[in-house]
Amino acid sequence: MASRSFSSGNTAWRVQQSSSRPRSSGSPARITQYHGLEGDDFRHPLDQQNTRLLRVVPGLDMITRGLLGPVAEQVLLLENIATSVLVGHDQLPSLHKILKEAAGILQMDVPDLYVRQSPVPNAYTLAIAGRKPFIVATTALLDLLTLAEVQAVIAHELGHLKCDHGIWLTIANVLASGTISLPIISGVVEESFMRWLRAAELTCDRAAMLVAQDHKIVISALMKLAGGSPGLASELNIDAFLRQARSYDEATASPLGWYLRNAQTRALSHPLPVMRAREVDRWADGPQYKALIAKNSMQRPPLSLNAKQKSSTAFMKDSSSS
Ligand SMILES: [Zn+2]
Repeated sequence: MASRSFSSGNTAWRVQQSSSRPRSSGSPARITQYHGLEGDDFRHPLDQQNTRLLRVVPGLDMITRGLLGPVAEQVLLLENIATSVLVGHDQLPSLHKILKEAAGILQMDVPDLYVRQSPVPNAYTLAIAGRKPFIVATTALLDLLTLAEVQAVIAHELGHLKCDHGIWLTIANVLASGTISLPIISGVVEESFMRWLRAAELTCDRAAMLVAQDHKIVISALMKLAGGSPGLASELNIDAFLRQARSYDEATASPLGWYLRNAQTRALSHPLPVMRAREVDRWADGPQYKALIAKNSMQRPPLSLNAKQKSSTAFMKDSSSS
């Protein structure tokens, strides 16, 4: 199941579906495009709620754009482009193929994809005003995951672009990194950012689900990012991890609310992996996902790209995660 072929030069990657269970969609064929898909069609309610809260802070958007634009452009953009390998039809073509496929499914323009040498499994998205946004995936991520799981991670990153997480994610990540101090932002607002960021991750896990169309692919990726080892991949058990995730419900009456608000997770940019898996599991079995699948299984009109990517300055970083 695991594929470690990236570092060894073996290009025989295969997009594998989870062998233990068919797709949860109830549809025999994979959806190749969700016609007219908008971010709000799959946005997590906590993402919507926290975005509304952030928007009430007057002038914050404009101030942070001014502060963060030059930083993002000079440091992040150059650093990423100069130290990574750009994926294309003749460069790591299997990655290029799954990138194009995922963007097509989500009905968006195809961003650039770079592969960067790093021992930390990670992926993130960077969008600079007026430039084509790009995704960076680390070599450790590619070594750890199957190609289908890598596509789910890419779809998660596409979700950030699709949902216009741009400027808010930029602010939250800068605050999380601690590299830049924004004195205008109080502790209360900072906490709101971090809460929003965790909620935004749940939205983008749904984008991963929309592309993978098999909750076990997404959950397997989350499991491996939580505690996977390429050498022990054959022993990893998705069902056991799912049981672990479901057991969280028994630990507390309102687990989602608990971890999103609890002081222990206040400084985390990402929700706990087990909780993310539980949320994907729940959404994949719910009416919103099933309705999207059913609607797009019935009608397959010609492709009409509906890119919603704004040219805002945006740094979307997903530390040690998808
Ligand atoms: Zn993310």
